[in-house]
This record gives sequence, C-alpha cells and structure tokens, in this order.
Amino acid sequence: MTVLPNSLQARDIAYQMHPYTNARRHERIGPMVIERGEGIHVYDDQGREYIEGMAGLWSVGVGFGEKRLVEAATRQMSKLPYYHTFTHKSHEPSIALAEKLVKITPAGLDHVFFTNSGSEANDTVVKIAWYYNNALGRPNKKKFIARVGGYHGITVASGSLTGIQVNQKGFDLPLPFVRHITTPHFYRFGLPGESEQAFTDRLAKELEDVIAEEGADTIAAFIGEPVTGAGGVVVPPVGYWERVQEICRKNDILVVADEVINGFGRIGTMFASEHFNIRPDMLVLSKQITSSYQPLAAVVFSDAIYQAVADHSETLGTFGHGYTASGHPVATAVGLENLAIIEERGLVQNAATVGAHLQKALRGFANHPLVGEVRGVGLIGAVEIVKDKATKEKFDPPGKVGTYLFERAQEHGLIIRNMQDSIAFCPPMIITEKQVDEVIARFARALEDTQAWIAAGMPA
Ligand code: PMP
Repeated sequence: MTVLPNSLQARDIAYQMHPYTNARRHERIGPMVIERGEGIHVYDDQGREYIEGMAGLWSVGVGFGEKRLVEAATRQMSKLPYYHTFTHKSHEPSIALAEKLVKITPAGLDHVFFTNSGSEANDTVVKIAWYYNNALGRPNKKKFIARVGGYHGITVASGSLTGIQVNQKGFDLPLPFVRHITTPHFYRFGLPGESEQAFTDRLAKELEDVIAEEGADTIAAFIGEPVTGAGGVVVPPVGYWERVQEICRKNDILVVADEVINGFGRIGTMFASEHFNIRPDMLVLSKQITSSYQPLAAVVFSDAIYQAVADHSETLGTFGHGYTASGHPVATAVGLENLAIIEERGLVQNAATVGAHLQKALRGFANHPLVGEVRGVGLIGAVEIVKDKATKEKFDPPGKVGTYLFERAQEHGLIIRNMQDSIAFCPPMIITEKQVDEVIARFARALEDTQAWIAAGMPA
C-alpha cells in the first residue's frame, strides 16, 4: 500500500504503537483502517467490504451496528455515565449483570468480580487464589499449572499463565509461579500409533507427575481454556477435562476455566464448561459479554472461595484489589442488553446449528494437499496448513504460509487470522448458513492462490 502524506495511515504510523504488530513492518505497510461495520461485515476507509470471519478478536457475538447496544449505552451515559464500585458504592447495571451471570453460569459459581479486560480478569484469578490460600493458612500453595499454547492475557501475571512464546520472549516472562504442561492437541502431540484415549491418559499422568514433583501443597490452581483459542483452536479429546478435574480435586487444586473466547454461546452451549462437564471453581468471562462494544470482563467464583476471601479481608481491613472501572455502569448496561439479545435471538442455538454447518464445510478442505487438520466446534474452527500431509511436517519458517494465506483471504474480502500456519475462523454468532458458504468460497480462493504461490517456489 502507498502511504500518502497526512493520510490516516501516515498519522497512524507516526503516532500509534500497535499491539501484536511488528512495528518496523507496520512503518512499511501501514494500517488497514476500518471505518464502520454492519452485521458480519466491516468496511475500510476505501469503502471495501470484508466478512469479519474472526468477529473482531473472537468477540463481536451479535455482529456490528447493533442499535440496541448503542441505545443501552446512550441511556446509561445520560443517567449515570460513571460511578465506581469501591468502598461500598454500587449501581444498578453492575448489580443486575452480576446477578444475571450467577444465574446463567454453571452451578457452584455464586459471586462476580468485574474487570475491564481478560488479562485483568486472569490477574484477578491469580490474586484471588493467592489471597484464598493465605486466608486458609497455606502460604506455600501458590503455583499455577497452565498449558503450552494456552492464552490468558498479556499482563505480568496473566502473561505468565499464557504459554505462547511471542508473548513472553523479550518480556522476561513467565514469572516462576507457573508450570506449563502439554496442550491436549492429539494431532500435534499424539505419538505415532497412540490412541486418543492413551494420549489423554498420558496427559493425565503428566499432570499427576508435575503435581508430585512440585508438591500438591505448593499448587494453587490449574487454568485452561475449555477450547483453546489463540493457541490454535484446540478441541480436547473426550474425557480430558474429567481427568484434569479428578486429579485437581484429589490434590485440592482449584480449577479455573478461561472462557474469555468460549463463553456466551461460541461453541453452541452458553458456556463450554457445560459441554465438557467442567465444574470450575473460577470462571473467566469477557469479549462476548458485551460483544466487545464496551471493555468488560468478569471472574465468577465459588462461595467457598468468597467466604475465605471475605473473612481474610475483614482481618486485613479491606480487599485491596479493584479497578477504577470495575463494573463500569455503561459496560455492564451494555452487557445486560447484549445477553438479552443473545437469549431473545437464540444465538446460542444459532451457534450450534450454523456452527455444525461451518464445521462440515471446513472439513470439506480435509483432503486438500495443504491441509493437515481441520478442527473446531460450534462457531470456532481452524484449518492447519502443512508442507507434508503424511508426516505433518510444517513449512519453514512457521507462519510464512499462514501469513500469505491470511493476506490473500483479505484481498478476497475475508478477514480471518493465522496463528502461525493454523487459520482460525470465529465469525459473529448471527451468521447464517448462506453467509458461512460465502466465507468458505472466499477462503477457497485464498487457498488456491496460496497453492499456486507455493508451486511457484514461494516468491517474495
Ligand atoms: N483469555 C483468553 C482465553 C483470551 O482469548 C484472551 C484474549 N484474546 C484473554 C484471556 C485476554 O483478554 P484481553 O485481551 O481482554 O486482556
């Protein structure tokens, strides 16, 4: 792209440092400036239309341009644009959303703590787990077990739980309170000849071994996304979560389900914890809680944790944790309206039925010579590109082909995301089967272009 002087692109390059972006490359190519959105589509400043196949960052569940959310925000802005929830203050939207979350989340989750982002929510998880064990007189029970390829955010604590190199290299992370174990991705980490059941058994044994090695009395919690998002969209084998929970319960280790992506219908059930029979002690929610129209996240946790934390904070004088915008009235008002839309329009059911259509359509690529694996559930899926189907060998360097494919898809009017050479699909939950077919058609064109480029020797 040619960057014209004084254009939005030029000003962006001059003044804004972007998250998750190679700054030097950005100086060369500039940003794609998105101007507006409607339904599953967004439009750039040149008027070009794209299907937002990632719902932004896995998050715009009800789609773009939803007037009811604009109105809910406007109503709340006019009445009370801001108030805090520190020091015994409260307001109706935060109260109503906390009540609603306790009612719709799995049994055994009774209290809500609001934050602005998923990262802050996971920092809150870490701090609650530490505080809880201090309350119980177990000051050594502080470590977390997470998974390689797990994504839990980028703040210092949540970025330590994350098991992705790019979030840690150069940042002196992870902090030493985290042990990362194997991610339950059978295609990549199953051994030759190993059954899925044997793979699950091996991972369960790894978890037991890590606990034995560290000592159960030093481990506070296990954290995982029921279906991994940013780490490549990994759906665990049947029985995996049951085994994890059984081992954690036996060792008095809290189970934390990070449903920042999965929550509010993404996989075809309101929460993925229902689908995988997870009974979390803490559940982490964000993104589709407001369809990302407002920044908001929540930790929903058990009464047992609440009681210990409440007792301890009384001893210490206060629970000294919270954010200026915890439970922000506009964000929580938008959250309430968003959940009402999800329920009234049956979007969880839509994610199940249209999701089944998406999964079937994606599996249509399974025999393509470049496709190693197609995976996913509901309205989240991924296609993994490999150099050699038989050996599962990756292209070198990893991500080069994925990036090329992602760029071609964009040229064909489809925004998707490559996580190295796995291409993710996570469209708004309002998507129809016909629109899914259009996603697939645009992706097929991009895959065709990529195949031709590889055949030509991957010219620069
Ligand atoms: N957990 C998961 C599972 C996520 O996918 C994300 C964000 N992609 C986060 C936590 C962090 O959320 P945020 O970017 O709002 O800090």
